[in-house]
Amino acid sequence: LCVAAQDFDFFYFVQQWPASYCDTRRSCCYPTTGKPDEDFSIHGLWPNYENGKWPQNCDKESSLDESEFSDLISTMEKNWPSLACPSSDGLKFWSHEWLKHGTCSALNQHAYFQTALDFKTKSNLLQNLNNAGIKPRNGEHYSVESIKEAIEKGVGHPPFIECNVDSQGNHQLYQVYLCVDSSASKFIDCPIFPHGGKCGAKIEFPSFSSNDDHDEF
Ligand code: 5GP
Ligand code: 5GP
Ligand code: 5GP
Repeated sequence: LCVAAQDFDFFYFVQQWPASYCDTRRSCCYPTTGKPDEDFSIHGLWPNYENGKWPQNCDKESSLDESEFSDLISTMEKNWPSLACPSSDGLKFWSHEWLKHGTCSALNQHAYFQTALDFKTKSNLLQNLNNAGIKPRNGEHYSVESIKEAIEKGVGHPPFIECNVDSQGNHQLYQVYLCVDSSASKFIDCPIFPHGGKCGAKIEFPSFSSNDDHDEF
């Protein structure tokens, strides 16, 4: 069954916290372009239906064409790095996101990547958390409610927070989901929240800066 390109209701815009991607039983590998900044980075912009299902791989003939978004590559290396092993320059991750989700978005490759970069800037997650006194620090615990409130205050819409578990078993902030309207023009309240990893009342927001690493990456 072939799903028409604009046949979806909204996007999840998903950002990951790099320290929490790395600081688990699974290891991570820094990109060939170097260790990313201590900042949220983009995971993807995912078309979704209001019933919680989603379309994927909408154009099996498509392939990533670097020449279509060459002007965005250095910004993507900074804001959309791949932390999977082995180390890569990001093209494989971007290709995966484009083929699986982007081909269902009704956007072309340039618009798909540009839109995600723009929404990262607009969401300003790290600054919004900072403004509420929520800073990446090992060993400190923050309430999930305070994290949600800080992001809602800055973005205007409540996020969904997904947690994972570090090597000591602590729940930590892993991914932040915001919702975007189907024309990719603005944040909206999420019609339905996803089913990502649960958090518990208090969670860690681990440090990713080199002078503060308590974990081996
Ligand atoms: P996981 O099984 O790790 O939650 O998700 C694996 C992959 O499925 C994600 O990277 C993403 O591509 C896709 N995925 C998971 N949950 C959702 C969702 O709620 N909406 C959409 N559009 N994709 C999802
Ligand atoms: P779950 O057990 O969470 O319902 O789904 C397990 C896996 O099935 C997910 O990680 C995802 O890869 C796939 N999946 C679940 N729901 C959907 C959906 O609505 N659309 C698609 N394409 N895959 C789904
Ligand atoms: P998803 O299907 O869950 O949207 O995409 C996850 C896929 O991208 C997995 O195959 C994963 O190995 C790969 N990947 C590469 N780099 C990253 C990264 O930095 N974060 C995540 N979540 N997945 C990555």
